[in-house]
Amino acid sequence: MTSDQSWKEKYLQELESADLRAQQWKVERNTLERMLVRTSLASEGQTPELDRLLAKVRKDLRQKNVDVDAWRELQEQIDRQVTLLDERSPPESESNPEAPIVDPGCGSVEPRNVPGDERDLADNTQRLRIARRIGQLLGQLLNTVALEPTAEARARALQQALLSSNDWNELREGLNHVAELVIAAVTRSQREFEAFLKRLDERLEALRAHFSEQTSAQSSRLTASEALDREIRQELERAGSQLRDSDDLQQLKASVSHHLSSIGEAVGRYREQETERERVLSEQLAVMQEKIAAMEAHSEQVQKEVRRERHRAMTDLLTQLPNREAWQERLSFEFNRWQRYQQPLTVGVLDIDFFKRINDSYGHKAGDRVLQLVARELSERLRTTDFIARFGGEEFVLLFPETTPDEAKVAMDKLRQHVGKLPFHFSGEPVTVTFSAGLAAVGRKDSEATVFDRADRALYLAKDNGRNRVQISAEQAGQ
Ligand code: GH3
Ligand code: MG
Ligand code: MG
Repeated sequence: MTSDQSWKEKYLQELESADLRAQQWKVERNTLERMLVRTSLASEGQTPELDRLLAKVRKDLRQKNVDVDAWRELQEQIDRQVTLLDERSPPESESNPEAPIVDPGCGSVEPRNVPGDERDLADNTQRLRIARRIGQLLGQLLNTVALEPTAEARARALQQALLSSNDWNELREGLNHVAELVIAAVTRSQREFEAFLKRLDERLEALRAHFSEQTSAQSSRLTASEALDREIRQELERAGSQLRDSDDLQQLKASVSHHLSSIGEAVGRYREQETERERVLSEQLAVMQEKIAAMEAHSEQVQKEVRRERHRAMTDLLTQLPNREAWQERLSFEFNRWQRYQQPLTVGVLDIDFFKRINDSYGHKAGDRVLQLVARELSERLRTTDFIARFGGEEFVLLFPETTPDEAKVAMDKLRQHVGKLPFHFSGEPVTVTFSAGLAAVGRKDSEATVFDRADRALYLAKDNGRNRVQISAEQAGQ
């Protein structure tokens, strides 16, 4: 392979991996955007104006119309609304009791009690629940994206405050910072990627310049060798005509020797120039090789970072199992494979029984420990072709490719018996942990959502039938 070809190949490879990085960045950005949509949904139902602003956030995200400057303004408007909200009475939030608020179950909610003013109390409880929910979402966000270390520390402190503080003034401040953090995370990824593309572009420009120097060096070499060729031809022609025209041997000898030395000089000059050209080219080559090595090292480092980020975005921090994002990706993959090959595919949903009691009796830390251990036991005991992810809280989801529900039930029952025998001890007491599970096979009329819903309903049947059991869905596919 000539050196030109190897440079071209490197150039093409670099373009290809830049494409790949662009795709990966897109995945991260999508995650952030989805988080933002969820956060904004969770904050809805306060005032019509705030709802309008949050709807605009979601609309911009949907239409891929995120302009950071316009968003800063949007964020200021949201800040103003949140401040107004705090000063407003009576609370409008009561008009929307069905706002999607989930009790995160971490830390007790004990609002300041103002005797005789129940409305204030309800308002405060509602606010605290929203703050807890946003604290949870912020936690999920932090597990998914990388912030600068100082921003990360601030975000962690903020999350702590949102999860545990009962001081509304502190919480209000905290909520105001959440949007800033989300914007900081999005713009940081964008900035880093832009900086990377800029560096890549500079290096590609250096490569291009090198190619054009190569081309002009080649053409000057061609010109020089043509000139040499011409000079030698002319000398030979002159020598030939003198040979033809002259009868004097002495004169002929002198003439031939003169022409030979002219030719020798021309060849010598050509050689010198050629050596100089070679020297310049090999110097340029060394510089280029250094640049390419730096480019390769940098690109490798970026790829490593992207891989690390992607792993982080797909992993649940507490249990180290794949998270919900990873689950969606794998479910789509197996579902597509099922559509193509029609081999049996079973989906499982698993939920720990009476988990709240563990938290309530032995504390949240004990609950976390149970989740970690159960997750480890489950993932270690499944076949490598099976898949398990933490869906949220104490719920796990499973995929059994090329396995019927009856076969999956055998595996799940074994896991269930094993988990039931794990020797947990809290506060000196032995504690038994059990789980219930629902299974459903993917059928012809199914979508990813319908098969999941059937497995989930089967789980609830298992709970209703006394827990610590695995139930296969008896429903028809596609419902
Ligand atoms: P059931 O048998 O019906 O499933 O009862 P349960 O108590 O397990 O169900 P429930 O959904 O009422 O309670 C689940 C509890 O899980 C509520 C919440 O406090 C707790 N939880 C959710 N996520 C976590 C977590 O990350 N760590 C800990 N320690 N607890 C969590
Ligand atoms: Mg549950
Ligand atoms: Mg449970």
